[in-house]
Amino acid sequence: MRIAKSVQALTPYTPGEQPKSRSVIKLNTNENPYAPSPLVGKVLASFDLDRLRRYPDPVFAELRKKIAERDGAAPDCVFVGNGSDEVLTLAARAFVDDGEAIGSFDPSYSLYKTLAAIRNVPFVPSPLAEDFTWTEPVVQGGEHPVALFLLTNPNAPTSVRYPCSRVEAFARTFPGVVLVDEAYADFADDTCMPLAAAPDNRNVVVMRTLSKSFSLAGLRLGYCVGPADLVDALYKVKDSYNVDALAQAVALAALSDLPWMKSNAAKVCKTRDATAAALRARGWDVPPSQANFLFARPAHRPAAEIFAELRKRDIFVRYFPGPRTGDRLRISVGTDADMAALLDALADLDRI
Ligand code: PMP
Repeated sequence: MRIAKSVQALTPYTPGEQPKSRSVIKLNTNENPYAPSPLVGKVLASFDLDRLRRYPDPVFAELRKKIAERDGAAPDCVFVGNGSDEVLTLAARAFVDDGEAIGSFDPSYSLYKTLAAIRNVPFVPSPLAEDFTWTEPVVQGGEHPVALFLLTNPNAPTSVRYPCSRVEAFARTFPGVVLVDEAYADFADDTCMPLAAAPDNRNVVVMRTLSKSFSLAGLRLGYCVGPADLVDALYKVKDSYNVDALAQAVALAALSDLPWMKSNAAKVCKTRDATAAALRARGWDVPPSQANFLFARPAHRPAAEIFAELRKRDIFVRYFPGPRTGDRLRISVGTDADMAALLDALADLDRI
């Protein structure tokens, strides 16, 4: 058996734990605590089995049209993937040559570094400011120019959003592709989507997912909007049928019910802000979140210890060891009852 050296050396991405037990309060993978639109249920209940006999539309024409309507872009400027993780993989394939590099802020979505390793190109981190606000991106890694900058906005795991004016100014001078990963934008006050849809846009691709705000993480549907030539390049390097027929039909239904998504997102934001206030009242440091999670530094005990203690009590949050992240917990926003249970458990821990 022969395994490529780059794969032998690879540290794979570790997804958040998916517990078997339903009684766990699951605040570790930024899923939505509310159900998807009832239109999704209708599509699933009435889905014509015969459609599974045939291959799906390889270019998801209907879905692209729907997305184009939502985001004010031409259908030619829309690409769809099997989750936005697939869009990221394809971007690393399409926009980066051997000898070039992939960059992102640090800390950010930890998959990015793994994607660079899989693509066998250097990863160039740009350290964020102490409070996780914007710093000028590093665009050269030694001999290797950054060809693709992955810019999560709002950022994960920090929850902080950068102003679109900074993104726009950076993209104007950057020769490579800026992929703005807006996985959490439906929980934020603003979006960079207008940059992607602008007629003079040369290098900004804005990516969305149905996993978070549309409550469809199990479906695997993500998309991006960008200049037609960049989008064409993604089509060139994708698998023939990368989005299955069921996912296309369900996504179409979910995107036809924006009020449902927006109402759930508003509930999540309300719970988020109340939880942030409660944690701050306990002395925790909680940056202003524009996402469906908080990146909180405990006041009295190490984050790793609280993570382990919560886990014993069947409350799962996320802990990322490391110099910039190891003193904090990333806590997804659940229902009000979930967050009350979390705060009760924290009060309990303080008594031990
Ligand atoms: N981008 C960011 C910043 C994320 O946190 C996630 C979820 N882990 C994704 C992309 C991937 O989302 P999905 O593949 O479910 O669309």
